Amino acid sequence: MLIDTHSHLNFTDFDKDRDEVIRRSLVENTWMINASTNYLTSKKAVEIAEKYEEGIYAAVGLHPGDVLEEDFSYEKYRELAHSTGSGQAKSKVVAIGEVGLDYWYKPKTKRKFELFKQKQKEIFLKQLNLAKELNLPIIIHCRVAHEDLLKILKGQEFQGVIHSFTGTWEQAEKYLEMGFYLGFNGIIFKLNLNEIIKKVPLNRILIETDSPFLVPPPLKIKRCEPIFVKYIAQEIAKIRNENFEKIAQITTENAKSLFL
Ligand SMILES: [Zn+2]
Repeated sequence: MLIDTHSHLNFTDFDKDRDEVIRRSLVENTWMINASTNYLTSKKAVEIAEKYEEGIYAAVGLHPGDVLEEDFSYEKYRELAHSTGSGQAKSKVVAIGEVGLDYWYKPKTKRKFELFKQKQKEIFLKQLNLAKELNLPIIIHCRVAHEDLLKILKGQEFQGVIHSFTGTWEQAEKYLEMGFYLGFNGIIFKLNLNEIIKKVPLNRILIETDSPFLVPPPLKIKRCEPIFVKYIAQEIAKIRNENFEKIAQITTENAKSLFL
């Protein structure tokens, strides 16, 4: 069994054959967590998860790159994630995410960039509060913003994953000290993260596809899907010189202990 801890089957890319993609995946015993980027995709992720008995879960949240496109409403996200009457999250909503900081796409002026960063931080903090209120882990998206992210998380007690980790070992160590998991996807075929992948304790590694993005290179298709998370496990096994079964088993246990 494998768990794709970060996919986006809630995106329109899967509108035509979503149920087939999900079934293919469940038949192969590959479970998935659909992460969201805004209110609409969050709503969709919850709907999809609730349609299936088991094996497919949702994370809700506003992506840092989308903070200027949507007026973040704590109440609306809370309503999506919260199970009425219990003070807890719905059983199929297993995380707040993907949320965080992304300084990659810069607005044109320095002033606008500062405001953009400010807005991202403000909304990230609100979503951290939501995670705290509902006692949920967080799926963090961070691009060229690790220093600011580490500042925000320092001294806090959150559980979660730094998804699609591409930082330095020094940064990785800080997240690991705080108890975070590191998530790896098809980026490991593009950037050389081998030294980091070798050093991260096995009980802190999560695997993901980030479907529909990042198709693993042996495949000649345009759209990634959760079943291909096995290629990530295989590559990690190769880099660490371990067998595939071991990587599959431990990363699945990791995903279960964080999210399920
Ligand atoms: Zn993503």
